[in-house]
Amino acid sequence: MRYFVTGGAGFVGSHVCLEFLEAGHEIVILDDLSTGHRSAVPKGARFIEGSVLDSELINKVLSDGQWDGVLHFAALSLVGDSMRNPIEYMRNNGLGGFVIIDACVRHEIPRFILSSTASLFSNMDDSLIDENCAIDPASPYGESKFVVERALHWADRAHSLKSACLRYFNAAGADPLGRLGEDHNPETHLLPLIIDAGLKRRPPLVLFGNDYPTPDGTCIRDYIHVTDLASAHLDVMTSLNEKSVSYNIGTGQGHSNLELIHTVEKVTGIPVPWSVGERRQGDPAILIANPEKIKKEVRWSPKYSDIETLIKHAYQWRVANPGGYRK
Ligand code: UDP
Repeated sequence: MRYFVTGGAGFVGSHVCLEFLEAGHEIVILDDLSTGHRSAVPKGARFIEGSVLDSELINKVLSDGQWDGVLHFAALSLVGDSMRNPIEYMRNNGLGGFVIIDACVRHEIPRFILSSTASLFSNMDDSLIDENCAIDPASPYGESKFVVERALHWADRAHSLKSACLRYFNAAGADPLGRLGEDHNPETHLLPLIIDAGLKRRPPLVLFGNDYPTPDGTCIRDYIHVTDLASAHLDVMTSLNEKSVSYNIGTGQGHSNLELIHTVEKVTGIPVPWSVGERRQGDPAILIANPEKIKKEVRWSPKYSDIETLIKHAYQWRVANPGGYRK
């Protein structure tokens, strides 16, 4: 099968491309390298440097032969940043999504997977979040993904484009064989920051608030190994034929920010210096998925997402790649 992947040089996108290539599929990646890395493009994928806002380029690429589906990752993805730059997020993620969906409809591409997010939900308690939970984004980032989900709903109604909206909880970890990892610039995600603080490559970690309504006062998140996310995309794409779907993808287990620090110390044997700072705007207290729907419907199950394995893979990649993808 032949797939077009936007944002395939980014963290989740690159791991998904690797999974599809290993399954024998042909992959063409479009990425503007604003946050992705040329060296994260897996061997065997064709690479085109360009933006999802460039509708002329996308229509040109998609008019070249047959495509079995599109996977759309290219987007800005930082909750805190989106609170400061809401319109930039709506433009990039919203408009970028509309451009690519429009091109899929024009070229009669049958399947579409959207990289969506748990930030659609603003849970106030510790209940697991399933697909029937109310959508109420606490940030422009979440909102910008939601508008694309809605466009996909109508693209199916009007044009039979079958889509899967995959709402990731906290993607983390790295390829178990060390071929790919997580490298954002600036890095804002908790696990790489904890590891780097432990390795003394960055200042001590600042925990954003310890007065949340949780047992230890710090936020709780559901960490899903990026390679498990990649296999979910492959399983979903294979089963995406008759109806459009939405899936919440996580493990169903929550870990507090403080617990994550302690588990990194346990797994790696290095002490992690940290202090407590202000809350970050737009952070819900607790986000834990109920992943039963995807497990049941596509028979997906995570293999690497127990928290210690996930931390081990993230740590190994960071130790082996001190400058990330920049050699
Ligand atoms: N966090 C933190 N300090 C940091 C970065 C993140 O305390 O330097 C917290 C953040 O407030 C949230 C959790 O770690 O409670 C996970 O944040 P991250 O940005 O990794 O992912 P998000 O849940 O926003 O997608």
